[in-house]
Formats: sequence, C-alpha cells, structure tokens
Amino acid sequence: MAFSVRASSSAHLARNVVSNARSSLASKRSNGMGKKVSQSIPFRFQSMSSTSRKSSVTVQAADGPVCVVTGASRGIGAAIATQLGAQGCRVVVNYAASSGPAEEVCKTIKSSGGDAIAVQANVAKQDEVDALFKAAVDAFGEVNVLVNNAGITRDTLMMRMKLAQWQEVIDLNLTGVFLCTQAACKIMGKKKPVKGRIINITSVVGVTGNAGQANYSAAKAGVIGLTKTVAREYAGRNIQCNAIAPGFIASDMTAELGPEIEAKILTTIPAGKYGQPEDIAGMVRFLALDPAAAYITGQTIHVDGGMVM
Ligand code: NDP
Repeated sequence: MAFSVRASSSAHLARNVVSNARSSLASKRSNGMGKKVSQSIPFRFQSMSSTSRKSSVTVQAADGPVCVVTGASRGIGAAIATQLGAQGCRVVVNYAASSGPAEEVCKTIKSSGGDAIAVQANVAKQDEVDALFKAAVDAFGEVNVLVNNAGITRDTLMMRMKLAQWQEVIDLNLTGVFLCTQAACKIMGKKKPVKGRIINITSVVGVTGNAGQANYSAAKAGVIGLTKTVAREYAGRNIQCNAIAPGFIASDMTAELGPEIEAKILTTIPAGKYGQPEDIAGMVRFLALDPAAAYITGQTIHVDGGMVM
C-alpha cells in the first residue's frame, strides 16, 4: 500500500493498523501507518450531581469562556468546537483552507447557544498565529481556553523521508503548538486573576512510535514534552496544560474497509470498537471546562479504547 502524501492521521493510523493486520495475515510489509449558567464556565462551574450534569452545563447566553480551537473545520477539531459551543462557549473556529465547513461549524455552535467566529490562519506561521489571536481578542475580548488540535501527516518510511516532509509536519504539529501556546499565555496572563486551560491533541504514536511516521511521531512526542514544560511554568499562575492522546478514531476511510480488515483492526483495540471524534471532544470539554479538572496539569490522557497502556 502506498504512503499517502496528504491524509488525515486517522486515515494513517487506520492504514497502519490495517497494514499490520495484513502483515500478520499475509506476511506483507507494514506501511506504518435548561438551567442556564450565565458566567464563564471554567471558572464558575456549578457543582454537578449525577442527575444535573446536563442541565448545569447548558448556558443561556454566549458569554462563556473564549475557546480558540485550531483546525476546527472538520474531524476531531470540529467535534471539539461544537461541544464547547454547546456549553455556551465563545469559540474561535480556526481553519487553514476549509472556509465553508468552518462557517458551518460556527452556525452549529450559534444554534446551540454558543457564539463563534471562523478565522483562517496557518498556525505554523507566527504572523498568522498573531493575527488569529488578535481576531479572538477583537471579537471576544479575552482567551480562556486553547485547544491545539490542528495536525497533518506526511507519511513515509524514515529512509525515504524528504526534509520537506519532516519539516512540514514539525512546523505545524509541534512549532504550531508552541506558537499558539505562547500567544495564548500572553493573553491569559494579562487578565487578573490569571487563569486558563490549554489542551494539546497529541497521539498514541507520540508514545509508541509508528513505522512510516518519523516526523509525526516525533512531533507528537514533542507535544507531550512541551505540555509538561508549559504545565510546570504556568501551574503557579492558574494555567493548566494537558495533552490528549487519541488512538484509533473512526473516519470516512474506515467506513470503506472490508469486514475482514475491520475485524482484524478491532482485535488491536481492547474496547473492541473505534473511537469517535466526540470521544476526544468529551475529554477536551472536561479538561477545558470542568472544575474537577482544575488540579490536573502536565498529563497526557489516552483516549484510545485501551490500545496503549
Ligand atoms: P483532519 O485532517 O480531519 O483535520 C485537520 C484540521 O486541521 C482541519 O480543520 C484543517 O483545516 C486543520 N489544519 C490543517 N493544516 C492547518 C494549518 N496549517 N493551520 C491551521 N489548521 C490546519 O484531522 P483529524 O481530525 O483526524 O485530527 C485532528 C488532530 O488529532 C490532529 O492533531 C491529529 O494529529 C490528531 N490525531 C488524530 C487521530 C485520528 O485518528 N483522527 C489519532 C491521533 C491523533 P482545513 O480543513 O482548512 O484544511
């Protein structure tokens, strides 16, 4: 199976798992792979009983936390932005090229009680990151939550990897996280008392490595280290920084897999099923908004059905 030059990481992970399945089956070479809350939610959450969780996080007006979500036009980022918006957050829906889908995400957020703007910016570039955060402050006055979700893959075996393929992935998946985190912390630090939450979307392959993803796994491992450093530097200033490591998240591509391959993939997942973008979004929502997450920082939380443990 040829390596994809432009593919989502879910597609790659699927490809990798499929490849491993095929390898073991046919000895082929693997190719890698209600009650309304009117105040800012992360800092004014109501305590939640088992029966009141739903209603306590539904808000009346879009005056909830300002959340910048990078790469929110589709996939996991769109699910994250949508879930945060449904909690009454004011969401900055960042995208690189998909303006139509980004506007659709904004519409969905507005119809569910949140507010949103779509902002095009390549978060691998400092001037565009600066413009993204300026747009956030111009629209909503502050930034309370940053979700570093934007990511790409440029997969090939390490020996064949061009410097450009390495650099492009490092520039977005790692340097982009650094640039956005630096920009967000500057804004979070201006409003007293300082507080904020940063969630970085890494990957299980940042922990395990993955054939065909030297660039991607290095960037995702770097994100885990960066997460811990930001957590240490800002823990005393009320800014938590955590990472989420998704495993196998269902994609359009997986829908096209035959039942035999799908069955083999599922044997690698103890939970016996794929994750959904909403599973990642749910963990983001917890880390970003829930008061119970206030004492969690520097952690990498795997949302992978038990694939890596
Ligand atoms: P998708 O390919 O579905 O979406 C990627 C998003 O990133 C899009 O919104 C895209 O915008 C945006 N984007 C791409 N390049 C840039 C850029 N230079 N600047 C700003 N935004 C950009 O990805 P997934 O939803 O699958 O993945 C989201 C995150 O989750 C990634 O970090 C990925 O590495 C990680 N992940 C995903 C897994 C999975 O199984 N899907 C598994 C493990 C980790 P546009 O639409 O405009 O191109």
